[in-house]
Amino acid sequence: MPANEGTRTYDAVIVGGGHNGLVAAAYLARAGRSVLVLERLGHTGGAAVSTRPFAGVDARLSRYSYLVSLLPAKIVRDLGLDFQVRGRTISSYTPVERGGRPTGLLVGGGEQRTREAFARLTGSEREYEAWQRFYGMTGQVAQRVFPTLTEPLPTRDELRRRIDDETAWRALFEEPIGVAVEENFADDLVRGVVLTDALIGTFADAHDASLAQNRCFLYHVIGGGTGAWDVPVGGMGALTDALATAARTTGAVLATGHEAVRIATDGHTAEVTYRTADGEGVAAARHVLVNASPQELAALMGDPSPEPAEGAQLKVNMLLTRLPRLRDASVDPREAFAGTFHIAEGYDQLAIAHAQAAAGELPAAPPSEIYCHSLTDPTILGPDLAGRGYQTLTLFGLHTPARLFARDNDAVREELLKSTLAQLDAHLAEPLTDCLATDADGRPCIEAKTPLDLEHDLRLPGGNIFHRALSWPYAQEESGRWGVETRQANVLLCGAGAVRGGGVSGVPGHNAAMAVLEA
Ligand SMILES: Cc1cc2nc3c(=O)[nH]c(=O)nc-3n(C[C@H](O)[C@H](O)[C@H](O)COP(=O)(O)OP(=O)(O)OC[C@H]3O[C@@H](n4cnc5c(N)ncnc54)[C@H](O)[C@@H]3O)c2cc1C
Repeated sequence: MPANEGTRTYDAVIVGGGHNGLVAAAYLARAGRSVLVLERLGHTGGAAVSTRPFAGVDARLSRYSYLVSLLPAKIVRDLGLDFQVRGRTISSYTPVERGGRPTGLLVGGGEQRTREAFARLTGSEREYEAWQRFYGMTGQVAQRVFPTLTEPLPTRDELRRRIDDETAWRALFEEPIGVAVEENFADDLVRGVVLTDALIGTFADAHDASLAQNRCFLYHVIGGGTGAWDVPVGGMGALTDALATAARTTGAVLATGHEAVRIATDGHTAEVTYRTADGEGVAAARHVLVNASPQELAALMGDPSPEPAEGAQLKVNMLLTRLPRLRDASVDPREAFAGTFHIAEGYDQLAIAHAQAAAGELPAAPPSEIYCHSLTDPTILGPDLAGRGYQTLTLFGLHTPARLFARDNDAVREELLKSTLAQLDAHLAEPLTDCLATDADGRPCIEAKTPLDLEHDLRLPGGNIFHRALSWPYAQEESGRWGVETRQANVLLCGAGAVRGGGVSGVPGHNAAMAVLEA
């Protein structure tokens, strides 16, 4: 769409073409509304994209987000998306050294096998039984909470009644999650595996009084009503592409390379000024939906900036010529890497890493988790690479808040990458670098993104992958009917920063569209 074409009026202008902006666009366009999406980057998708990051190498990696859990089947159905996910046969593998010998815990591959794996590691049936009880409880909560995400916000009491389990309510909503983890589990490794779901993209301790870790945990165990994390077939870009197609074919205009720079509104109609390579333009609308972060919304409206929301993760993408062999020879690497492979994520290790980072140091043993997409879905590799047995690895590191990178992002990135890979190497029978593929220029196929990189590339505030700390999924003061409302009646948030936003879910996009259609 050219700049300076004169002011056109739309029913809705959407600022940001991340997956949530596209969900909102598709719902509104299907309802017959005229929709313009302004995306500052040259492509849609935001943090839900696939790219070929390595020169001359035909591997389409989910560059940022990589697993899907929170996307309701309803959205896929309503929008007729050509998009599928595939379950993982292995849930997780955690290597550890016990009694001077390499061993580990493989969760998945059937109930009997998992039971035996727990017994082998811990010497009794107790931890497995606790695991079954605990995840039975979260499964019940998931079934009751997940369907509410695409309904108007329940009150706290309504949600509590709906959950109808006071033990679960206390464990998840009232006491720091560390209490439930310690009450239910005795083994340090098992405790650590459970706790990691509370720390993804969230810099908190198990006992943090803010309960930010509880909210993170909740969103990690309720997806799809089961808490399963599935592999997007074709990579995360396949979802964005399907959404862009759904929006476009129903008439939405997707304008990439268009950066919104100002929103002016009297509460009834609005004007959005945008900038392109050719200059400035203005689009008028009844409603403006903001898929960008709350920080960006405040800047666009000329409001004071909300509390900064710091991210704390390292994301590493790799292409390997083969999977590395493990020191724990009882496990096939094809199984170990198919699920979430936990590194330095024992319960005590997580607490130490958090304390070190909170004191301003990089964790000495940085915790992280890795997973191999191509084992479950090889379609992201070109036929030549797939035929030669190449595999992708994605690593998500914890407990490295943005402030640690402020002194020199490049140097700290390099130092952290080295120490993170050293933690992985400690469990491998050969160094990971021996398995890294090389690109067309002979460079190893590995890239790392710090919180500051994400802020720079994607405008995630402080590199926060959820735009801001996750919210409870119930109504709070000023959260409005759908959790997307702002101080102006015709300006809505439709991105991760909304109540019930965060993650690849499409939920805030859906909810903002519903709020517009109800108005
Ligand atoms: C490294 C990483 C790993 C993750 N892993 C997972 C995972 O495995 N599973 C999961 O569920 N979630 C994961 N997440 C979180 C998830 O990706 C995000 O929460 C989600 O993608 C947010 O989607 P969104 O559409 O709300 O916002 P975004 O994806 O942030 O999109 C916002 C869009 O707005 C655009 N924009 C910003 N400002 C302007 C402006 N002024 N004008 C025009 N356009 C603008 C941006 O360029 C961007 O395209 C991960 C995130 C990261 C970064």
